[in-house]
Amino acid sequence: MSESSVVDGVAKDLFIGGKWVAASGGRSFAVHDPSTGQRLCEVADASPADGKAALDAAVAAQPGFAAMPPRERGEILRRAYEILLARNEELALLMTLEMGKPLAEARGEVAYAAEFFRWFAEEAVRIDGGYAVAPNGNGRFLITKQPVGPTLLITPWNFPMAMGGRKLGPAIAAGCTVVIKPAEQTPLSMLALAGVLAEAGLPDGVLNVVTTSDAGAVMEPLIRDGRARKLSFTGSTAVGRKLLEQCAEKVLRTSLELGGNAPFLVFDDADLDAAVDGAMQAKMRNIGEACTAANRFYVQRGVYDEFARRLTERMAAQKMGRGTEDGVVVGPLIDDDAVRKVRELVADAVDRGARVLTGGSEVDGPGHFYPATVLVDVPRDARMSDEEIFGPVAPISVFDTEDEAVAAANDTEYGLVSYLFTNDVKRALRVSERLEAGMIGLNQGIVSNPAAPFGGIKQSGLGREGGTVGIEEFLETKYIAVSL
Ligand code: ADP
Repeated sequence: MSESSVVDGVAKDLFIGGKWVAASGGRSFAVHDPSTGQRLCEVADASPADGKAALDAAVAAQPGFAAMPPRERGEILRRAYEILLARNEELALLMTLEMGKPLAEARGEVAYAAEFFRWFAEEAVRIDGGYAVAPNGNGRFLITKQPVGPTLLITPWNFPMAMGGRKLGPAIAAGCTVVIKPAEQTPLSMLALAGVLAEAGLPDGVLNVVTTSDAGAVMEPLIRDGRARKLSFTGSTAVGRKLLEQCAEKVLRTSLELGGNAPFLVFDDADLDAAVDGAMQAKMRNIGEACTAANRFYVQRGVYDEFARRLTERMAAQKMGRGTEDGVVVGPLIDDDAVRKVRELVADAVDRGARVLTGGSEVDGPGHFYPATVLVDVPRDARMSDEEIFGPVAPISVFDTEDEAVAAANDTEYGLVSYLFTNDVKRALRVSERLEAGMIGLNQGIVSNPAAPFGGIKQSGLGREGGTVGIEEFLETKYIAVSL
């Protein structure tokens, strides 16, 4: 399986109404390999008219899909799960080529995307309702759930397939048709996923994929159109805010999974081996390009130096290179802007008094690389205390008391995830309750799981994805008042 055959094997057109079609005017845009900066291929560049055609197809397919037996919807997802597992190797390579993550992580992501389909295949047949006696005894309440309707999905480049699976799984299980727009940096994984779902028997028009270099121009008219009834978005808080405003016009249901600024707390009573392992996972998964990435490490004074020493040792040993090479952990960042931002944040922290224990240097040659970096004594006024680093940089600061740690952790507009390492069960529960986050990693560095509710509070978003609540985001509750 060569790299070029994997890229050649993906359809590069728009997927609308069950057909692969060229963009109007035949326009296309380039997809690049971030490890070399070289062009991989061109994909169709949808116009607003193409976007409208995709929404037309989703609207037309909605009544039929809502009427499809839940078991059949579930079986489509189950087949897609099996196809993904069977094709894991080629899909992983495709993802690594367009996004840069190490192959081992790309394989993990294909399996993770597949797990969303398996989970929601099981959820499709568990959509429940109710029957109740009215309090006055005279009437009855029938409660049922129906698909929200045609849905717009927008996904980011950092998990190009899993974010598709996380949204498409519950949408399809619930009976919603969709228009999905993948990030312009990584359209190939989504195009491949569309091929998998078509092969699994998804009816024409249920899934429509528009790739475009101008997300705003294509999506805003669809959001304002009024026929789509929901938007589910994963991306930056800045864009999420803008989309929420656009959704207000026609009062669309919204699910937003936005930025994070995860604190990682290590108390003196923590298992330090577990804390360092957890730190490596929370920091280095996806080269630090994850909204769940640990962005600020707060370590209690008694273990501060030892934690920093051990983390530095591990970080310094991480192999940097192209994601296709054996043993690489530090793949390229997505583009030059990403590298520039990380460089600026590190320079700013150092200017304000942080010390570099490893990394922090420029990388020569092609591709968009930044080395695994550890900073200590990072002051509160460093920009990275407030901004997502989105790269392999671990800033560490010291604390003395539990109150101080909780205050520092919560001192952010974000509230996606917080990590907490302690062996004191009372402290574990006390601090978990006080941390302002939708998710807590308690003595573990990874929280993502298709069977658990993923999402944030504060400016990290609205709604939850995955778990038993994930499908609710795509369902409306209808109440029928029955006279007896
Ligand atoms: P990032 O900074 O991680 O690239 P973005 O929020 O810019 O995050 O992008 C996430 C997704 O949102 C991508 O699919 C991108 O194309 C899309 N996007 C960006 N701007 C807009 C917009 N104005 N309207 C709709 N989608 C957008």
